[in-house]
Amino acid sequence: MRRTCFFGFLSIVLTLSFIGSNIYSARKVAIREAYSDTTGLVRFLSMDIERMYYGVEQMFVGLDNLLATEHGNNPGEIHDVLMDLKEKNSYLMDLLIVSPSGEITNWSNTGPLPDIRTRDYLRYHLERKYSTFYVGKPHVSIVHQDRWFFGYSKAERDRHGRLQRVLVAIIDIDHLYDRYRKLNLPEDMIITVASQDGDVYTRIPGHAQVVGKNFPAIVDLLCNLKKSKIFHGVSAINGTRLLASIERVGETSMVAAVSVNEEDFFSDWYRHSLLMGGFGGVVGAILFTLSILTVRSQREQLRIQQQLQQQATTDPLTGLANRRHALEQAALEIKRNQRAGTALAVMMMDIDHFKQVNDNYGHHIGDTVLIAVAQTCRELCRESDLVCRFGGEEFLILSPSTTLDGAEIHAEKLRQAIEALTFSADKDSFSVTASFGLSQWQAETKIDRVISRADKALYQAKHDGRNCIRRQD
Ligand code: GH3
Ligand code: MG
Ligand code: MG
Repeated sequence: MRRTCFFGFLSIVLTLSFIGSNIYSARKVAIREAYSDTTGLVRFLSMDIERMYYGVEQMFVGLDNLLATEHGNNPGEIHDVLMDLKEKNSYLMDLLIVSPSGEITNWSNTGPLPDIRTRDYLRYHLERKYSTFYVGKPHVSIVHQDRWFFGYSKAERDRHGRLQRVLVAIIDIDHLYDRYRKLNLPEDMIITVASQDGDVYTRIPGHAQVVGKNFPAIVDLLCNLKKSKIFHGVSAINGTRLLASIERVGETSMVAAVSVNEEDFFSDWYRHSLLMGGFGGVVGAILFTLSILTVRSQREQLRIQQQLQQQATTDPLTGLANRRHALEQAALEIKRNQRAGTALAVMMMDIDHFKQVNDNYGHHIGDTVLIAVAQTCRELCRESDLVCRFGGEEFLILSPSTTLDGAEIHAEKLRQAIEALTFSADKDSFSVTASFGLSQWQAETKIDRVISRADKALYQAKHDGRNCIRRQD
C-alpha cells in the first residue's frame, strides 16, 4: 500500500514536472524566436541609418573640397551644389554652411535665413575645441512648418584647431518614419530610434505621440544593458512588458531598437501552457484518483485477508484460537522448547455433563456457558499461555515454561473459578463444573503424544467422578 502511494505520488510528480519543463522550454523557444526576429531587423535598421550617415559624410568631404577651391568663392555655384545634393537625397531637409560666428553663409534654400545660433548641432561645435561630428536632438523646423528634423553636423577646423566652418545636414525625421513605416512590419513589432540621452526620433507605431519627447528611462535601460543587446522587461516609453533587440548606430549616440510586446510573442505560449496545464491537471487528477482507488482496494483486500485469517484461526463463538491454529502454535512452541529446553505443560479441560445443559436449558444457554467458561480461562491464564477451544465443550491450554506441578495449581484455580460461575435460565439458576487432564512435554517431537496423555488423564478425571484434576507424567 505504501508502495502504491509512493508510485502514485511519484507518477503525479513526474507527470507534473514533465509538463512543467515542457511549458518552461516552450517559453524559452518563444523568447528565442522573438530574439531572432527582432535581432535581424534591428541590424538592418542600424545599418540603414549608418549608411545614411556615411552618405552625409561623403557629401561633407565633397563640400569641403569644393570650398577649398576657387569655386568656394562663388556663392551662387555653392548654392546650386547644395540644392542639387538636397534634391538627390530625399532624407535631407536642408544643407547648411555655417560660419564660426554662427551665421549661415550658404544653404540649400531661399528666403530669409533662420537664426540657428541656439541649435544644439551648432552650439556643440562652437563650445568645444576639438569636436568633429555631432548628431543633434529632434527639433521642429522653423523653415519647414511642423516638420521634425535633427542636425548632423561636422566642424571644419584648421591645423591649429580653429573653427573654419560648420557643415550641417538637416535630416528629415518624417522621411525616416515614412521609410520604416513602409517596411510593412509584422503588427506586433515596434521600431524605436532614440538617442542615448533618451530623446525619441521615431517610433512605429505611435510616432506622432513620442517624436521629440525625452524618456529618461531609456538612459537607465541602456546603462543597465551593459554588453548584452537584448532587453527583456518593462518598456521605457509606455510601461508594457516587452522584449527588445537594441543596437547602437555606428559610432554615433543614436540607438535603434526593435521590440515585441510580451503579450504578443507569448500569446502562443500562453495557449500552449493553458493546454498543457489543463492536460496535466486532468492526467494528475486521473493518476490521483487511480492511486486513491488502488490504495482503497488494497486496504479492503488487506482487511478481507485479515478477516479471513482471523476466521481461519479463531473460534467464532468464544473468540479463542481454534483447534487447527492451536496445533500449529503448539508445533512452533515445541520447536522453541527443543532449543531452549524449558518445560511445557498441556491441559485438557472438558465441561461436565454439558449435554444436560443443552437439554435442560437449550442450545442458546449452552453457548452462553461456553462463552463464560472461555472468558474465565482467558482471564486466569498468562499472556504467554495458548488457550484454545479444542472441540465442542473441550478446551486445550498450553503453558510454556510451566511444570506439571505448576499446571496443577493453575488447573485448580480454573476448576474453582468455573465452579463458581452461575447461570440463569427460565427463572432457574445453575452452575457447571469441569474436569482436567494434565501432561507435560517430555522432549517428544510431536505434540499429539503430549495431548494424548492429557486426554487420558482427562478420561481418568471423568472416570473418577468429574470436577477434578488428573495428571499423566
Ligand atoms: P461428560 O461429562 O462426559 O463430558 O458429558 P458431556 O455431556 O459433557 O459430554 P458429551 O460428549 O456427551 O456431550 C457434549 C455436548 O456438547 C454435546 C453437544 O451437543 C454439546 N456441544 C458441542 N458443541 C457445542 C456448541 O457449540 N454449543 C452448544 N450449546 N453445545 C455444544
Ligand atoms: Mg463434557
Ligand atoms: Mg466432551
